[in-house]
Amino acid sequence: MDLLERLSHTPLLCDGSMGTQLIARGLESGACGELWNLTHSDEVEAIHRAYRDAGCNLITTNTFGATSSVLARHGQQHLADELNEKAVRLARHAVGGNCYLLGNIGPFGDFIEPLGTATQAEVTELFRQQAASLKRGGADAIIIETMSDPVEMRLAIHAAKKIANWPVIATYAFNAPVEGVFRTMMGTTVDQAITEAISAGADVVGANCGTGLSLNDYVDLAREVVKIAGNTPVIIQPNAGSPKVINNRTTYTATPREMAQMVQPLLDAGVRIIGGCCGTTPLYLAAMSDKLHRKM
Ligand SMILES: [Zn+2]
Repeated sequence: MDLLERLSHTPLLCDGSMGTQLIARGLESGACGELWNLTHSDEVEAIHRAYRDAGCNLITTNTFGATSSVLARHGQQHLADELNEKAVRLARHAVGGNCYLLGNIGPFGDFIEPLGTATQAEVTELFRQQAASLKRGGADAIIIETMSDPVEMRLAIHAAKKIANWPVIATYAFNAPVEGVFRTMMGTTVDQAITEAISAGADVVGANCGTGLSLNDYVDLAREVVKIAGNTPVIIQPNAGSPKVINNRTTYTATPREMAQMVQPLLDAGVRIIGGCCGTTPLYLAAMSDKLHRKM
Protein backbone atom coordinates (compact mmCIF):
# COMPACT_ATOMS: atom_id res chain seq x y z
CA MET A 1 0.00 0.00 0.00
CA ASP A 2 1.16 3.52 -0.77
CA LEU A 3 2.77 5.19 2.25
CA LEU A 4 0.31 8.11 2.41
CA GLU A 5 -2.67 5.79 2.00
CA ARG A 6 -1.36 3.59 4.83
CA LEU A 7 -0.76 6.66 6.97
CA SER A 8 -4.36 7.75 6.55
CA HIS A 9 -5.40 4.48 8.23
CA THR A 10 -2.78 4.08 10.92
CA PRO A 11 0.09 5.89 12.66
CA LEU A 12 3.52 4.56 11.73
CA LEU A 13 6.89 4.21 13.41
CA CYS A 14 10.03 5.57 11.77
CA ASP A 15 13.48 4.39 12.83
CA GLY A 16 16.06 5.96 15.16
CA SER A 17 19.55 7.36 14.92
CA MET A 18 22.01 5.98 12.36
CA GLY A 19 25.04 7.98 13.55
CA THR A 20 24.84 6.69 17.12
CA GLN A 21 24.80 3.14 15.79
CA LEU A 22 27.69 3.62 13.36
CA ILE A 23 29.85 5.06 16.15
CA ALA A 24 28.90 2.11 18.38
CA ARG A 25 30.23 -0.14 15.60
CA GLY A 26 33.54 1.66 15.30
CA LEU A 27 33.03 4.72 13.10
CA GLU A 28 35.37 7.44 14.33
CA SER A 29 33.65 10.64 15.38
CA GLY A 30 33.93 13.15 12.51
CA ALA A 31 34.59 10.47 9.88
CA CYS A 32 32.29 9.99 6.88
CA GLY A 33 29.58 7.55 8.02
CA GLU A 34 27.95 7.48 4.59
CA LEU A 35 31.10 5.92 3.15
CA TRP A 36 30.22 2.83 5.19
CA ASN A 37 27.50 2.06 2.61
CA LEU A 38 30.40 1.02 0.38
CA THR A 39 33.07 -0.09 2.85
CA HIS A 40 31.05 -1.64 5.72
CA SER A 41 27.73 -2.50 4.12
CA ASP A 42 27.22 -5.50 6.45
CA GLU A 43 27.32 -3.18 9.46
CA VAL A 44 24.86 -0.73 7.90
CA GLU A 45 22.55 -3.60 6.97
CA ALA A 46 22.69 -4.91 10.54
CA ILE A 47 21.57 -1.50 11.85
CA HIS A 48 18.63 -1.35 9.42
CA ARG A 49 17.65 -4.89 10.37
CA ALA A 50 17.78 -4.06 14.08
CA TYR A 51 15.35 -1.17 13.51
CA ARG A 52 13.04 -3.37 11.44
CA ASP A 53 13.11 -6.02 14.17
CA ALA A 54 12.32 -3.30 16.73
CA GLY A 55 9.04 -2.75 14.87
CA CYS A 56 9.87 0.26 12.69
CA ASN A 57 7.70 0.62 9.58
CA LEU A 58 9.86 3.28 7.94
CA ILE A 59 13.58 2.77 7.42
CA THR A 60 15.82 5.74 6.63
CA THR A 61 18.83 5.30 4.32
CA ASN A 62 22.34 6.13 5.53
CA THR A 63 22.60 9.17 3.27
CA PHE A 64 22.00 12.15 5.55
CA GLY A 65 25.40 13.66 4.67
CA ALA A 66 25.54 12.33 1.11
CA THR A 67 24.95 15.46 -0.94
CA SER A 68 28.09 15.85 -3.02
CA SER A 69 28.80 19.14 -1.18
CA VAL A 70 28.98 17.43 2.23
CA LEU A 71 30.87 14.42 0.81
CA ALA A 72 33.42 16.89 -0.61
CA ARG A 73 34.51 17.70 2.96
CA HIS A 74 35.76 14.13 3.15
CA GLY A 75 37.13 14.18 -0.42
CA GLN A 76 34.45 11.68 -1.47
CA GLN A 77 32.20 13.73 -3.75
CA HIS A 78 33.08 11.54 -6.75
CA LEU A 79 31.27 8.68 -4.97
CA ALA A 80 27.98 10.57 -4.48
CA ASP A 81 25.88 8.75 -7.09
CA GLU A 82 27.18 5.28 -6.27
CA LEU A 83 26.96 5.79 -2.53
CA ASN A 84 23.34 7.02 -2.53
CA GLU A 85 22.13 4.30 -4.87
CA LYS A 86 23.95 1.60 -2.88
CA ALA A 87 22.49 2.93 0.38
CA VAL A 88 18.95 2.20 -0.80
CA ARG A 89 19.83 -1.19 -2.25
CA LEU A 90 21.52 -2.38 0.93
CA ALA A 91 18.64 -1.12 3.07
CA ARG A 92 16.19 -3.07 0.89
CA HIS A 93 18.40 -6.13 1.09
CA ALA A 94 18.47 -5.76 4.88
CA VAL A 95 14.77 -5.23 5.60
CA GLY A 96 12.91 -6.78 2.65
CA GLY A 97 9.62 -5.54 1.26
CA ASN A 98 7.54 -4.89 4.38
CA CYS A 99 9.12 -1.57 5.34
CA TYR A 100 8.97 1.73 3.48
CA LEU A 101 12.43 2.98 2.52
CA LEU A 102 12.95 6.70 2.98
CA GLY A 103 15.84 8.20 1.02
CA ASN A 104 17.43 10.58 3.52
CA ILE A 105 18.49 14.08 2.46
CA GLY A 106 20.18 16.41 4.96
CA PRO A 107 21.33 20.03 4.67
CA PHE A 108 23.87 20.78 1.93
CA GLY A 109 26.24 22.13 4.59
CA ASP A 110 26.47 25.86 3.93
CA PHE A 111 24.35 28.98 3.55
CA ILE A 112 22.45 30.14 0.49
CA GLU A 113 22.90 33.67 -0.92
CA PRO A 114 22.83 36.34 0.42
CA LEU A 115 23.93 34.83 3.77
CA GLY A 116 26.40 32.50 2.03
CA THR A 117 27.85 32.13 -1.45
CA ALA A 118 25.82 29.19 -2.80
CA THR A 119 23.21 30.13 -5.41
CA GLN A 120 19.73 28.61 -5.37
CA ALA A 121 20.48 26.93 -8.71
CA GLU A 122 23.61 25.27 -7.31
CA VAL A 123 21.80 24.02 -4.23
CA THR A 124 18.89 22.73 -6.30
CA GLU A 125 21.34 20.75 -8.43
CA LEU A 126 22.93 19.16 -5.31
CA PHE A 127 19.53 17.93 -4.10
CA ARG A 128 18.45 16.87 -7.60
CA GLN A 129 21.56 14.74 -7.98
CA GLN A 130 21.03 13.04 -4.61
CA ALA A 131 17.30 12.45 -5.12
CA ALA A 132 17.94 10.95 -8.56
CA SER A 133 20.45 8.43 -7.12
CA LEU A 134 18.08 7.54 -4.28
CA LYS A 135 15.35 6.93 -6.86
CA ARG A 136 17.63 4.70 -8.96
CA GLY A 137 18.33 2.67 -5.83
CA GLY A 138 14.58 2.14 -5.32
CA ALA A 139 13.60 4.45 -2.44
CA ASP A 140 9.83 4.60 -1.77
CA ALA A 141 9.86 8.19 -0.54
CA ILE A 142 12.17 11.01 0.46
CA ILE A 143 12.77 12.46 3.92
CA ILE A 144 14.46 15.86 4.10
CA GLU A 145 15.71 16.26 7.68
CA THR A 146 17.27 18.66 10.18
CA MET A 147 16.66 21.76 8.04
CA SER A 148 16.91 25.27 9.52
CA ASP A 149 16.36 27.42 6.43
CA PRO A 150 12.91 27.33 4.78
CA VAL A 151 14.45 28.43 1.46
CA GLU A 152 16.79 25.44 1.48
CA MET A 153 13.82 23.24 2.41
CA ARG A 154 11.81 24.55 -0.52
CA LEU A 155 14.66 23.88 -2.98
CA ALA A 156 15.08 20.33 -1.65
CA ILE A 157 11.34 19.59 -1.86
CA HIS A 158 11.12 20.94 -5.41
CA ALA A 159 14.20 18.94 -6.47
CA ALA A 160 12.81 15.70 -4.99
CA LYS A 161 9.36 16.23 -6.51
CA LYS A 162 10.90 16.79 -9.95
CA ILE A 163 12.57 13.37 -9.80
CA ALA A 164 9.44 11.34 -9.09
CA ASN A 165 5.85 11.45 -7.97
CA TRP A 166 6.72 10.05 -4.54
CA PRO A 167 5.88 11.18 -1.00
CA VAL A 168 8.23 13.84 0.37
CA ILE A 169 8.58 14.20 4.15
CA ALA A 170 10.03 17.51 5.36
CA THR A 171 11.34 18.06 8.89
CA TYR A 172 13.09 20.96 10.60
CA ALA A 173 15.32 21.10 13.66
CA PHE A 174 14.07 23.60 16.24
CA ASN A 175 15.88 24.99 19.25
CA ALA A 176 14.49 24.79 22.78
CA PRO A 177 11.69 27.36 23.14
CA VAL A 178 12.46 30.88 24.33
CA GLU A 179 9.44 32.32 26.16
CA GLY A 180 7.35 29.58 24.61
CA VAL A 181 8.45 30.26 21.00
CA PHE A 182 10.25 27.60 18.97
CA ARG A 183 12.66 28.78 16.25
CA THR A 184 15.19 27.07 14.01
CA MET A 185 18.86 28.05 14.16
CA MET A 186 18.05 30.56 11.39
CA GLY A 187 15.37 32.17 13.53
CA THR A 188 12.47 30.72 11.53
CA THR A 189 9.25 30.16 13.50
CA VAL A 190 7.21 26.96 13.33
CA ASP A 191 4.51 28.76 11.36
CA GLN A 192 6.96 30.10 8.73
CA ALA A 193 8.83 26.80 8.47
CA ILE A 194 5.83 24.49 8.15
CA THR A 195 3.83 26.82 5.90
CA GLU A 196 6.78 27.05 3.48
CA ALA A 197 7.27 23.26 3.37
CA ILE A 198 3.58 22.62 2.67
CA SER A 199 3.38 25.26 -0.02
CA ALA A 200 6.51 23.77 -1.65
CA GLY A 201 4.68 20.43 -1.91
CA ALA A 202 5.70 18.41 1.16
CA ASP A 203 3.31 15.50 1.86
CA VAL A 204 4.29 15.08 5.53
CA VAL A 205 5.81 17.83 7.70
CA GLY A 206 7.31 18.08 11.15
CA ALA A 207 10.39 18.21 13.30
CA ASN A 208 13.39 16.07 14.10
CA CYS A 209 16.46 16.48 16.27
CA GLY A 210 16.84 20.02 17.63
CA THR A 211 18.96 21.63 20.30
CA GLY A 212 18.27 21.33 24.00
CA LEU A 213 14.62 20.26 23.80
CA SER A 214 13.19 18.23 26.69
CA LEU A 215 10.78 15.40 25.94
CA ASN A 216 7.90 17.66 27.03
CA ASP A 217 9.12 20.35 24.62
CA TYR A 218 8.67 17.90 21.74
CA VAL A 219 5.04 17.35 22.75
CA ASP A 220 4.44 21.13 22.85
CA LEU A 221 6.18 21.47 19.48
CA ALA A 222 4.05 18.65 18.05
CA ARG A 223 0.83 20.42 19.07
CA GLU A 224 1.99 23.60 17.37
CA VAL A 225 3.04 21.81 14.17
CA VAL A 226 -0.25 19.89 13.96
CA LYS A 227 -2.25 23.09 14.34
CA ILE A 228 -0.37 24.76 11.48
CA ALA A 229 -0.19 21.66 9.25
CA GLY A 230 -3.98 21.28 9.03
CA ASN A 231 -4.73 18.23 6.85
CA THR A 232 -1.05 17.49 6.15
CA PRO A 233 0.18 14.54 8.27
CA VAL A 234 2.81 15.33 10.92
CA ILE A 235 6.02 13.51 11.86
CA ILE A 236 8.00 14.05 15.06
CA GLN A 237 11.42 12.45 15.64
CA PRO A 238 12.76 13.55 19.05
CA ASN A 239 16.25 13.14 20.40
CA ALA A 240 16.55 10.93 23.48
CA GLY A 241 15.91 13.93 25.72
CA SER A 242 18.20 16.91 26.16
CA PRO A 243 21.93 16.18 26.02
CA LYS A 244 24.50 16.41 28.78
CA VAL A 245 28.22 16.59 28.14
CA ILE A 246 29.90 13.80 30.08
CA ASN A 247 33.66 13.22 29.63
CA ASN A 248 33.66 15.53 26.59
CA ARG A 249 31.00 13.40 24.91
CA THR A 250 27.44 14.50 24.25
CA THR A 251 25.17 12.00 25.95
CA TYR A 252 21.39 11.88 25.66
CA THR A 253 19.85 11.04 28.97
CA ALA A 254 16.23 9.94 28.42
CA THR A 255 15.61 6.22 28.83
CA PRO A 256 13.74 3.97 26.36
CA ARG A 257 10.88 3.86 28.88
CA GLU A 258 10.68 7.66 29.03
CA MET A 259 10.66 7.86 25.23
CA ALA A 260 7.92 5.22 25.09
CA GLN A 261 5.85 7.32 27.50
CA MET A 262 5.82 10.11 24.88
CA VAL A 263 4.09 7.99 22.29
CA GLN A 264 0.56 8.48 23.62
CA PRO A 265 0.89 12.26 24.14
CA LEU A 266 2.29 12.61 20.62
CA LEU A 267 -0.58 10.55 19.16
CA ASP A 268 -3.05 12.59 21.20
CA ALA A 269 -1.49 15.73 19.72
CA GLY A 270 -2.34 14.35 16.26
CA VAL A 271 1.11 13.11 15.15
CA ARG A 272 0.99 10.34 12.49
CA ILE A 273 4.65 9.28 12.30
CA ILE A 274 6.86 8.97 15.38
CA GLY A 275 10.55 8.10 15.27
CA GLY A 276 13.79 8.96 17.00
CA CYS A 277 16.80 11.16 16.36
CA CYS A 278 20.11 11.63 18.23
CA GLY A 279 20.77 9.20 21.02
CA THR A 280 17.99 6.76 20.12
CA THR A 281 18.80 3.11 19.41
CA PRO A 282 16.82 0.00 18.43
CA LEU A 283 16.10 -0.49 22.16
CA TYR A 284 14.33 2.88 22.29
CA LEU A 285 12.38 2.15 19.13
CA ALA A 286 11.34 -1.28 20.41
CA ALA A 287 9.91 0.34 23.55
CA MET A 288 8.10 2.93 21.42
CA SER A 289 6.83 0.24 19.05
CA ASP A 290 5.30 -1.58 22.00
CA LYS A 291 3.20 1.48 22.81
CA LEU A 292 2.39 2.47 19.25
CA HIS A 293 1.54 -0.89 17.74
CA ARG A 294 -0.35 -2.13 20.76
CA LYS A 295 -3.09 0.37 19.94
CA MET A 296 -3.61 -0.90 16.47
ZN1 LIG B 1 19.45 14.35 15.71
